[in-house]
Amino acid sequence: MGIDLEALYTDLHRHPELSFQETRTAGIVTQHLTALGIEFEEQIGRTGIASVIRNGDGPVVWLRADMDGLPVEERTGLAYASTARGIDPSGTDVPVMHACGHDMHVTALLGALETLVNTKDEWSGTIVAVFQPAEEYGAGSQAMIADGVLDRFPRPDIVLGQHVTPLPAGTIGVRSGTQMAASDGLTVTLLGRGGHGSRPHSTIDPVVMAAATVMRLQTIVSREVDPRDVAVVTVGSIHAGLKNNIIPAEAKLELSLRYPDDEARASVLEKVERVVRAEAQASGAEQEPTITIDHSLPPTINDVHSTARLTLAFDAAFGEGTVVDPGMFTGSEDVSWFAREAGVPLVFWFWGGVDPAIYAAALASGTIARDIPTNHSPFFAPVLHPTLEVGVEALVVAAREFLD
Ligand code: ZN
Ligand code: ZN
Repeated sequence: MGIDLEALYTDLHRHPELSFQETRTAGIVTQHLTALGIEFEEQIGRTGIASVIRNGDGPVVWLRADMDGLPVEERTGLAYASTARGIDPSGTDVPVMHACGHDMHVTALLGALETLVNTKDEWSGTIVAVFQPAEEYGAGSQAMIADGVLDRFPRPDIVLGQHVTPLPAGTIGVRSGTQMAASDGLTVTLLGRGGHGSRPHSTIDPVVMAAATVMRLQTIVSREVDPRDVAVVTVGSIHAGLKNNIIPAEAKLELSLRYPDDEARASVLEKVERVVRAEAQASGAEQEPTITIDHSLPPTINDVHSTARLTLAFDAAFGEGTVVDPGMFTGSEDVSWFAREAGVPLVFWFWGGVDPAIYAAALASGTIARDIPTNHSPFFAPVLHPTLEVGVEALVVAAREFLD
């Protein structure tokens, strides 16, 4: 008896869990791994699981799926819609939904493992399947690495992963080179000297310093980055002061930065630091501002050679024209830490989850942005078929391509 993919998916969809709380999901994963006779270890990076299929000599292929849901109230109206709630890290009770499709990723990976176990006489090598927590925090893959997943399991020769996306079902989107942007979250603390609002000359005003800094930061992308390149500098949060007649001692800025590669990252970070320090100096600050990187996601860069191989394999398996270039996404992913840490190639592709007829109608009327819900929307709802089957098959085809 094989895995009932539809039942598995709808069950996971009904019971989403927040990042680093994926214990029920992990329990379902380990039940299936046990039934398939696949060895595994759990609680790696808190709620992560890694499993291994050893099948003779050959390359080591890592397949990765992420497991977490999001604090979103589901509004799809589906029979299997989530009504789950969870407690977020601040202690707040929030609705939870698989609004990014990670339930689809878990289902597809379990389905693929079943096929690969049942066809062991057709391939040789080693498969490591990683069920990763907390992708939405950008923290799960690093948590698993910190917990030794790369040493406790055979190290990869290649890392493969996939994400369901609002392309027509049956279509696979993959781009050679940068597939998704890198991003950093920064906190900048500007240090002034507090005092009475009536005596500004006896203070160093961090509010004015912050205002000048925010405006000057906006010249990085407009004046210093090549207009043909992609970069984002967003100041998403600014806090200083409690009362009109007190000049506070400090101001805090929170920044979100995006760029396509490590070179651009280094360049923008250097410019941000230069502007922040120079504005503090222009204000006569006596203490250097502090700049901390709170989280950092590398660019998701698809290995050129491996992506070309995989594109041919997908076209051969699913038919010519299945694979499209979806362009670079400004969103970010933490999957590439596994490949970066191991120093091996990565291929991360997207597969469609939208009813092709609905997609075609929206395309014809120019209403894709309005009519096709994207990941993280309360209306995000991949069609079950053929999304489930293509998700399973894509992983099998990809794994087989890089195994012997
Ligand atoms: Zn997401
Ligand atoms: Zn996602």
